[in-house]
Amino acid sequence: IIEIENVHKRFGRVHALRGVSLTVEKGEVVVIIGPSGSGKSTLLRCINRLEEYNSGSISVDGIPLDSTENINAVRQEVGMVFQQFNLFSHLSVLDNLVLAQCQVRKRCKEEAVKIARELLQKVGIPEKEKAFPGQLSGGQQQRVAIARALAMNPKIMLFDEPTSALDPEMIKEVLDVMTGLAAEGMTMVVVSHEMGFARAAADRMIFMDEGRIVEMASPHDFFTNPKEERSRAFLSKVL
Ligand code: ATP
Ligand code: MG
Repeated sequence: IIEIENVHKRFGRVHALRGVSLTVEKGEVVVIIGPSGSGKSTLLRCINRLEEYNSGSISVDGIPLDSTENINAVRQEVGMVFQQFNLFSHLSVLDNLVLAQCQVRKRCKEEAVKIARELLQKVGIPEKEKAFPGQLSGGQQQRVAIARALAMNPKIMLFDEPTSALDPEMIKEVLDVMTGLAAEGMTMVVVSHEMGFARAAADRMIFMDEGRIVEMASPHDFFTNPKEERSRAFLSKVL
């Protein structure tokens, strides 16, 4: 459902992606790890074209990212959750979930509210619909952000370190929601150093370093017997 071929991305003199190729199957959960600056966020951002790449090609659900029209089509299929929750602070939780449904999906208010309430139930905070983001804990805000992305019925969810801004006691509630999504068959690409989650939910592990995919393996093989020296060294720090 995602096909990335030999993608290069430069920021001036920084060569952030140096020929990345990756295919993600429908329903697959891919977890990406790697040191700071290795290009993990850049790769995710290229998938929904938040970032332009210099060469190579990406297509999502058979749609190549090669025209404005196609890029807009792909963005409708791809939900993204960031480290910072990026909620609209002046809108209630419910309105955060309703807004894009009405504007982008052209749903009527009643339908959007119904879907929003179902999703708040799903992420475990139905009682918070009237609250404003500033009145919620970090874990609750992140669950609202996930619900907001899901409200668009994405075929793919991208997560960029969704729990790294959270206090330890809130990490689990967010990871539980993500594990549930994975179990339902959502296609997910997740940048995270939560190795418990990776072991439980990932179909495939990817280790990136210096703009390249250095190692790609099943979680079992990756954690028990990493082949590359760099992945081994990195794992010894995060495990
Ligand atoms: P982290 O674990 O710290 O989030 P990362 O693996 O996500 O790191 P990226 O954010 O993808 O790394 O960055 C890859 C490289 O590209 C880094 O050297 C970074 O400084 C550079 N970079 C990323 N975004 C920009 C930008 N907008 N302008 C200039 N350089 C950038
Ligand atoms: Mg990053």
